[in-house]
Amino acid sequence: MSVLVYIENWDGKLKKLSFELASYATQLAESLQLPVNAVSLGKVDESELKKLGTYGIEKVMSDSNELFKSLDNRAIAKAINAAAAKVGAAIVVIANNNLGKAVAPRLAVRMKAGLVSAVQGLPVSTAPFVVKKIVFTGKAFANIEVKSANKVLTLAPNSFKLVEKAVETLVEAFDSGLTAADFETIIESTNKVTGKILLQDAEIVVAGGRGMKAAENWNQLEELAEILGAGLACSRPVSDEGWRPHAEHVGQTGKIIAPNLYFAFGISGAIQHLGGVSSSKVIVAVNKDPEAPIFEAADYGIVGDVFKVLPQFISAAKEMKS
Ligand SMILES: Cc1cc2nc3c(=O)[nH]c(=O)nc-3n(C[C@H](O)[C@H](O)[C@H](O)COP(=O)(O)OP(=O)(O)OC[C@H]3O[C@@H](n4cnc5c(N)ncnc54)[C@H](O)[C@@H]3O)c2cc1C
Repeated sequence: MSVLVYIENWDGKLKKLSFELASYATQLAESLQLPVNAVSLGKVDESELKKLGTYGIEKVMSDSNELFKSLDNRAIAKAINAAAAKVGAAIVVIANNNLGKAVAPRLAVRMKAGLVSAVQGLPVSTAPFVVKKIVFTGKAFANIEVKSANKVLTLAPNSFKLVEKAVETLVEAFDSGLTAADFETIIESTNKVTGKILLQDAEIVVAGGRGMKAAENWNQLEELAEILGAGLACSRPVSDEGWRPHAEHVGQTGKIIAPNLYFAFGISGAIQHLGGVSSSKVIVAVNKDPEAPIFEAADYGIVGDVFKVLPQFISAAKEMKS
């Protein structure tokens, strides 16, 4: 028996969340006294995969088939299942992102495993096996007992701190046995967004709500985001009004993000908005209404007018940068 973690890459570079997953899988395996292995799909250099050694991963099985670039979730589930069978994995850990949410149920069916999505942290108990997850858009926790021998867990982003445990990582070539016929999604061309920070990858996000009053006031948020190297986001009414593109709308019906730092300027903090940002590590809110619900979710709050506070943020950020 062992624990297996699926390590994602983008264009051959390990994603930030892969290190969090590696760290989680190592700690989980330790608590169960099981070995831990990783599986990587697609072309990733050995030197890149060896970085997982910082977080306790002793072996990575690497299937460098270029077709995995298509992110075909059925093919990925099949390949992870093959890797799990090879190392006798009883628990597979994957990310709770768009890809993970599509792969996990397919993998659970293949492995005849119990599935818990958006798990928060290490199990509450290992025998019985009980894990904690957030429910009701962040209003409550649920403890879920998994009774099946095999288990698939998707880890909520930013729910587990990196724990360093340096080991030498062995990278082993792995053939998951998939052929071109297994890939039903074919990417013919890719248009990359350039010059912009993708919201889901951003470590810092600067967001504005209806309190920003008008589209033309966004230049201040853009300036702050530029200085901080941050992504830009907005509340839903802002994109509904056409002040910002829909791609920037975060929340229950928009993008779900988990940056290290989230700035909310003139955002009330409705439950539907918080549903998309509450996994942020630190939330800083600026709102003129001291009773605004955002202050209940915020780690730091400033009661004030955004148009007075924002310029001060910008000059402080410039000073910090220089
Ligand atoms: C089914 C459903 C799904 C939804 N999905 C989403 C979603 O995914 N994402 C989302 O964001 N919303 C969503 N909503 C809408 C959500 O309920 C709120 O209406 C929305 O989040 C409010 O946006 P807001 O905070 O920008 O605006 P408002 O609620 O109008 O709040 C503006 C805030 O700005 C403050 N303010 C005003 N002027 C200033 C100033 N000069 N300085 C400082 N502060 C100021 C005010 O005090 C206020 O708190 C959804 C709603 C429903 C019903």
